[in-house]
Amino acid sequence: MVNALTIDVEEYFCYAYPGDEFPCQRWGELESRVVPQTLETLRILETHGIRATFFILGWVAQREPYLVREILDRGHEIGSHGYNHRLVFTQSPQDFRSDLQRSVDILADITGEMPVGYRAPSFSINGTCLWALDVVAEMGFSYDSSIYPLNIRHYGVPGMPAVPHELESGLWEFPATTVQVGPARMPFGGGGYLRLYPFLVTRWATHRANADGHPAMVYLHPWELDPDPPMRPRSRLHRFQHTVNLSKTRSRLLHLCAEFDFAPMGQVLGQFQAARAVPLGFAAAM
Ligand SMILES: [Zn+2]
Repeated sequence: MVNALTIDVEEYFCYAYPGDEFPCQRWGELESRVVPQTLETLRILETHGIRATFFILGWVAQREPYLVREILDRGHEIGSHGYNHRLVFTQSPQDFRSDLQRSVDILADITGEMPVGYRAPSFSINGTCLWALDVVAEMGFSYDSSIYPLNIRHYGVPGMPAVPHELESGLWEFPATTVQVGPARMPFGGGGYLRLYPFLVTRWATHRANADGHPAMVYLHPWELDPDPPMRPRSRLHRFQHTVNLSKTRSRLLHLCAEFDFAPMGQVLGQFQAARAVPLGFAAAM
């Protein structure tokens, strides 16, 4: 089974934890590292012949249009990560729409195409702001990938299907991958979870999702390839989440690329939809 590999392109200082953010008005004062980190990510994927979806922050795209074109020219899919990485559940619908439109305009101006998918900063569409999915659909995106289908502090929508599914608006949702472990459903496969769990857990969970007939989704950020970021969140918990096992990201990405098949999210969703459209008797015979 082909799984979705997604890269959220942002700077190491664009983190958003509730009450613990470095204000975006001051981002320009800091050393930029996103270009070499993203080029390194591209190099690793190219070595393994893997294409992915890059959800690019509008603020980064505006400053580094060359980087966006480079990602596109190398055959990857372009998605939007919003403009300035504000948590969706802290925004009004009007602010969210305007932030998203700004990112779309910048990306479309550089690539000549509308980005196909959207990923909210820090998977921050939760049960209090499901209206955001309607905004994403109205703006013409094909899919969204912004939701954990369980409750994790401020995040997640418990009860939402844990596999890719079509919403009433026609928008497809590709939720963050989770697996059932005993009585609990556990998140895995990306960002802090990819770094925190022993790699064997990620490996097992990816195989488990595939054995259940579902593509898994892996996500990471180019800044996670840098084991020594110049800046970290203030709170001890957020600092831990943000930096635990950064030195292991590269080897884990390499192991994933060597063992699993990956493709851009739009392609994986297309295959998932096509398989579901096949009558069950034929699907069983395939
Ligand atoms: Zn992000």
